[in-house]
Amino acid sequence: MAAGTLDGTALARQVREEVAKGVAAHQAAGGGVPGLATVLVGDDPASEVYVRNKRRQCVQAGMLDLHRRLPATAGQAEVAELIDELAADPAVSGILLQLPLPAHLDAQALIERIPAAKDVDGLTTASAGLLAQGRPGLRPCTPAGVMRMLDAYDVLLTGANAVVVGRSVLVGQPMSRLLLQRDATVTVCHSRTRDLAEVCRRADILVVAAGKPGIIGADAVAPGATVIDVGIHRGPDGLLGDVDAGPVAEVAGLLSPVPGGVGPMTIAMLLANTLAAATAADPRN
Ligand code: NAP
Repeated sequence: MAAGTLDGTALARQVREEVAKGVAAHQAAGGGVPGLATVLVGDDPASEVYVRNKRRQCVQAGMLDLHRRLPATAGQAEVAELIDELAADPAVSGILLQLPLPAHLDAQALIERIPAAKDVDGLTTASAGLLAQGRPGLRPCTPAGVMRMLDAYDVLLTGANAVVVGRSVLVGQPMSRLLLQRDATVTVCHSRTRDLAEVCRRADILVVAAGKPGIIGADAVAPGATVIDVGIHRGPDGLLGDVDAGPVAEVAGLLSPVPGGVGPMTIAMLLANTLAAATAADPRN
């Protein structure tokens, strides 16, 4: 039987509507308009598209688009100065430094200048530390979107065997921590894992973020498992994930498609984080 679909497009729409309502309520209560400062350095075409989408959705949710742009030639000090300015600006609820940056810049040093309270991408070591300790904070958008998806489809997390393929700072590590916090039993796989398929077959919930198209086949999936495909690759016939979707759909219970799965959830969670940052920064709270 074919797996059910975890519809990220529909769920992201719902999240965006909730955020828009939250923004209106925040304003009606005298809280001001949340503002998102996307920072784009240079002219990488893919980054231009991502930033344009983020800005558009930010405006559609009723938030201020406080976009800033610097040329590819901008130096470390110039970008640092801009981030410091945004960090000090009370109109800015959230700062998103679009990655990758031009190679001459030290991205991590620049990310670290973003205060945790405005770190809507959840990528500073301060935000990672709050997550590691299970304390409140802004969580990285992609894993937060996956959690929202699992909850929306009532996937049981407590006591479930969850396997995360990938241990990146952006996806795999925060994903494993979020699942652990919800009482799943978590295994993290990486490029040195022996017999990946055997480990993945133990999963009730399998989250794949390896960045390798089709790395997970039907032999790596237990019957009825929930499979979340985080991977995105541009193939000759359109977008592909890390999961070999056709055969896996014959085995899995639920599967997130690519496109239309985790991708749309990521930007929706960025908006949710921006509203959360604005709410937390409101001195009346
Ligand atoms: P990344 O930084 O390249 O990390 C990939 C991880 O996968 C690493 O931990 C690596 O292990 C592991 N890995 C690589 N080959 C493996 C193998 N053969 N077996 C097991 N593990 C393996 O990638 P990322 O930033 O986490 O992104 C992963 C994928 O998600 C990419 O396709 C990316 O485009 C996509 N993505 C999508 C969204 C979205 O919004 N949908 C957001 C972010 C990323 P080592 O640590 O040992 O090298």
